[in-house]
Amino acid sequence: MPKAFLIDTTRCTACRGCQIACKEWKRLPALHTQQLGTHQNPPDLTPVNFKLVRFKEHMVDNNVAWYFFPDQCRHCLSPNCMTVAIGYVDGCVIQDEKTGAVLYNDKTKKLTKEQFEEMREACPYNIPRRDEKTGLVSKCNMCIDRVQNNLLPMCVKTCAMGTMNFGDREAMLKLAKERLAKVKKEFPKAQVLDMEAVSTIFLVANDPKMYHDFAVAEAKDPCPMTRKELFAKLAAPLRHLA
Ligand code: SF4
Ligand code: SF4
Repeated sequence: MPKAFLIDTTRCTACRGCQIACKEWKRLPALHTQQLGTHQNPPDLTPVNFKLVRFKEHMVDNNVAWYFFPDQCRHCLSPNCMTVAIGYVDGCVIQDEKTGAVLYNDKTKKLTKEQFEEMREACPYNIPRRDEKTGLVSKCNMCIDRVQNNLLPMCVKTCAMGTMNFGDREAMLKLAKERLAKVKKEFPKAQVLDMEAVSTIFLVANDPKMYHDFAVAEAKDPCPMTRKELFAKLAAPLRHLA
């Protein structure tokens, strides 16, 4: 059965437990980072940071408001990253039929830097990252090892605030609508983001751009196909024959 996350940012306190739990479960190494005048650390997603709590500070109604956004792959129902990547390297990205998880593997190392950049540009949410030394492209994999064993993704398991939710897609859509109805009473501009196109659904209290530049897909269709991607898709069978 397809799975989904609901990330209710109105409950997030930016404890970053999810971010650390992801690093620990995935045994990802620590990074030297810099203090750039924000609590957001590291400054961006990296090949060894699949989850990042983004921080934004705004003045809302003459009060300082903190907006927290636990960013990660959206596991798009029609993933643009996959369309572009498999146009170059067959099988380097797959979509798990049962859960809908979008999964990268070692074959991504065969993508050139330019091909990776095309893949990253195709992602409406700016998620894929590439290790410059090994060429491996990586991101959140929905903790597929845990989910296949009926366990919650580690970031969900660790969240004490009810921000991170995970389950059958239908149940998460229902929960998203229920939570939105409640939150809207206090925050009339609240909305759920790209719910029909992704499996990581965010609920935000205000304009998504106030949280993160890539919080929501720019186009109406969150996974639009650019000319480059369309070409990659059309050319894929020819590459396989070559
Ligand atoms: S969010 Fe980006 S990286 Fe994740 S599945 Fe969608 S297109 Fe791919
Ligand atoms: S689902 Fe797993 S890999 Fe993805 S952000 Fe959560 S802990 Fe990290």
